[in-house]
Amino acid sequence: MSILDNRAALKAEIYRVAEVAGYLWMKGWAERNGGNITVNITEWADEPMRSLPAISGTIAIGITLPHLKDCWFYCKGTQRRMRDLARDPMGNGSIIRITPDCAHYEIIADSPVAPTSELPSHLAVHDYLLAKNSPYRASLHTHPIELVALTHSKKWMEKDAATHMLWSMIPETKAFCPRGLGMVPYMLPSSVELADVTIKAIGDDYDVVMWEKHGVFAVDTDIMSAFDQVDVLNKAAQIYISSRNMGFEPDGMTDVQMKELTDVFGLPK
Ligand SMILES: [Zn+2]
Repeated sequence: MSILDNRAALKAEIYRVAEVAGYLWMKGWAERNGGNITVNITEWADEPMRSLPAISGTIAIGITLPHLKDCWFYCKGTQRRMRDLARDPMGNGSIIRITPDCAHYEIIADSPVAPTSELPSHLAVHDYLLAKNSPYRASLHTHPIELVALTHSKKWMEKDAATHMLWSMIPETKAFCPRGLGMVPYMLPSSVELADVTIKAIGDDYDVVMWEKHGVFAVDTDIMSAFDQVDVLNKAAQIYISSRNMGFEPDGMTDVQMKELTDVFGLPK
């Protein structure tokens, strides 16, 4: 028995997470247990689901998140591999609900897989998104090789330096990652400080935020869209690197060409 039985829409959403987890592994972005995914699945929590008993105790989040009252999430399990989650999402992740006090959660299904240690920071981002009425329901953290490599240079950590370069590599980058790439200086993984500056960067109008010498954090309406934004940006980084490997600095599209894209497609930046 699985909570996904007879819940086709919820099952499809969870299997989209599994599909993305497989892509992360295939791309070499998810070594060992690297990366995290959380998805707000509250819209699929029907009445029978809401009356299900918890299969764990009540666990403190560590912070109070007032907009998450009675929200439901699918979370990758702690110490679990993306490549395993791709095969078996409910064996390597779990569905949790936030308690009415907004400070605790309970695991509901399918087995008591403890959520990622990054849960407080992921939930803080979801709380922020709900607070500003964002339609975004999915958050993704992964280690895309070429984008992480860029952050080892101070030049690309300057605000919007990488955004401008990546947008100029191929028109689709600006069209499909129209808010660009926010940059966050190195901070200890899982720290409250890192969560705070990530939320601030999302608030500055980025969907994808780069953590220096670590990885990306991306948000979007669903997990496939969050993955697509990272994939598009990393492709642009690969094109830049390919040009450099051919022995030259790529010209990039001109400012006029990029402005034309913004105007014709009605892009936000
Ligand atoms: Zn990481």
